Order: sequence, then structure tokens, then C-alpha cells
Amino acid sequence: MYDLIIIGGGPAGVSAGVYAARKKIKLLVVADSFGGRSMVSDNIENWIGTQSISGLELAQQLEQHLRAQKDIEIKEDKVVEITKTDDGFLVKTDSGETHQTKTVLVCTGGKHRLLNIPGEEKFIGKGVVFCSTCDAPFFKNKDVAVVGAGNTGLEAVIDLVPYAAKIYLLVHGDKIKGDALTHEKVMNYDKVQVIYNTETKEITGDSFVSGLKYLDTISRETKEIAVQGVFVTIGAIPNSDIVRRLISLNEYGEIIIDYRTGQTSLKGIWAAGDVTDSPYKQNNIAVGDAARAVMDIYAFLYKGK
Ligand SMILES: Cc1cc2nc3c(=O)[nH]c(=O)nc-3n(C[C@H](O)[C@H](O)[C@H](O)COP(=O)(O)OP(=O)(O)OC[C@H]3O[C@@H](n4cnc5c(N)ncnc54)[C@H](O)[C@@H]3O)c2cc1C
Repeated sequence: MYDLIIIGGGPAGVSAGVYAARKKIKLLVVADSFGGRSMVSDNIENWIGTQSISGLELAQQLEQHLRAQKDIEIKEDKVVEITKTDDGFLVKTDSGETHQTKTVLVCTGGKHRLLNIPGEEKFIGKGVVFCSTCDAPFFKNKDVAVVGAGNTGLEAVIDLVPYAAKIYLLVHGDKIKGDALTHEKVMNYDKVQVIYNTETKEITGDSFVSGLKYLDTISRETKEIAVQGVFVTIGAIPNSDIVRRLISLNEYGEIIIDYRTGQTSLKGIWAAGDVTDSPYKQNNIAVGDAARAVMDIYAFLYKGK
């Protein structure tokens, strides 16, 4: 019986692991990968204490920091089910193992949100892509569309500038949501054309993407642009399925927590990072929220609070 099982190997899971190990909590960390979502970023400039670091380097540092802890058990596995028992929880993994624990901290983050339009699934890997850092070089001298104008969309444009011939940035409403500095940078490139008030309708092509149809929500006309790539950057879906039947989620599927403690609606389960309803999804925030949750778990386990 563990005192705590932490699920996830992103910034939240690693922070929780380091804090819990230093508190000597009887602990297991289960993660199917390490480093978290910003791993694909070329350059992270807001990781406090470091002026600039690549996502990959940050991921390596996080994993090393976790593995350097004494008295920590780590399993590279995927949690598929959590069930409530009389004295805690059973955590079942993809490899068929089951672990007993008194408490659980869910740090499972999020995954790409899909457009769910015709052609998207058919052309995944054939022009439809989700990771600009990984895939931008494949679009040398091609015309591409970036759908979504939050920070991920703006970063995708910047990643594409050295390669693509023309970049259309499709914005859902009449405003770009990403941060002001990145927005300003994107607007300075001649090859970028921003199209506001769009609703993407269909990705077209034969064996590879050749076009994107969208509705102009002002004129109500359906228009088509000829592109060979579509970068889908419309946010994330929280990885909360494993607790869906146990605890309260909001309308977006995010785990509802008490921001002061990280506690969920079920005693014994805490959550931290991007999987929660806490606003502003950022590395530093995930790390801080997870540390706070561990403090609260410690108080619950050993101080009877
Ligand atoms: C392209 C991009 C660029 C970004 N750039 C920045 C930036 O510059 N600065 C910044 O502060 N933030 C940035 N972010 C946001 C930042 O990456 C997130 O806020 C942060 O990663 C959240 O950490 P997390 O640990 O909550 O979740 P995640 O990073 O999503 O980590 C979740 C972890 O849980 C694991 N997991 C999921 N489900 C299971 C399961 N069932 N069983 C076991 N393990 C599981 C995953 O494999 C992963 O290890 C960026 C995000 C993206 C997408």
C-alpha cells in the first residue's frame, strides 16, 4: 500500500514527485512519458531561473531531477483505471499491474483538441499536423494554414516562417488570443496572412492535403484556400478520463479543484496542472500547483488534516 500515487511525468507530476520524495511520503510515480507538453517547443523563455531553454532540454532536466530523488519508485506505464476501495484506491495500469494507495494526485495534463471536420482524420500525417516544431521543416516552399490563434498557433507560425512559402493564420473570431509580444512578431512577416472570422469546414485533397474550406462568418460565404499543410492548434483536451466516473469535472472535462489545496470532489484524490480547471496553463503554474497539492496531501496523511 502506497501513501501516494502521482500520475503524470510533466512539470506538475515531476514537481509533485520531487516534493513528495523530500517529504519521505511512501510514493509511486506512474507516467507514460516525461517532460510534458512544452517538450516540442524550440525555445522556452519563461521558465523561471533560466533565460532560454529548449523544450527537449527542459524535459530531460525534469526527468533527471525526478530520478535523482532517493526513496522514489517510478514506473513508465499508463494508468487506465482508478477505483475506490474502503481504505483508498486501486490504480490499474496498461501493463496489467494494480497498485494500492491511500491517496492519488492526478497530473495527467492534456492532449491536442481536434477540429472534427471532414478530411481531418483522413489526412493526419498527410498534411494535417499538430506539432509545428516537429513538422515545420516538411513544408518547405509550401503554402500552409494554421488553424487557431492562441499561443500555440502563433508559435506554429513562427516555426513555419523559415520554411513555408505562405502561411494563412485562421482566426475564429475577430481577435488573436495569443500573447502580445508573439502576436506583434507574427504580424511583421510578409508571408503571413491573417484571416479573421472563420469557421473551418473541410480539409480537402486526394492522397495529401491540397485545400482548406472555411466559412466566412461575416459574409456567410464558404471559401477555399489552396494549402498543402494544415496545422491544427486549437487548444487541448484534458486527460481526465481515468477519473471521469469518480470526481467532478467541468463542462470542458477539466477536474474541478479547490485552488488553495488541489483537492477534488472526492476525498483522497488531488489534481494539479493542465488537467484541472485552474486557469492559465503554464509550466511554472503547473509546478507550483503540484507542490501545493503535495503539501496538502502530506498534511492529510500525517497530520490528520
Ligand atoms: C506547444 C506548446 C508550447 C508551450 N510553451 C510553453 C512555454 O513556453 N512556457 C510555459 O510556461 N508553458 C508552455 N506550454 C504549456 C505547458 O506545456 C503546460 O502548461 C504544462 O506542460 C502543463 O504541465 P502538466 O504536468 O500539467 O501536464 P503535461 O505537460 O500535459 O504532462 C502530463 C503528463 O502526464 C502523462 N500522462 C497523461 N495521461 C497519463 C496516464 N493515463 N497515465 C500515465 N501518465 C499519463 C503524460 O505522458 C505527461 O507526462 C506550452 C504548451 C504547448 C502545447
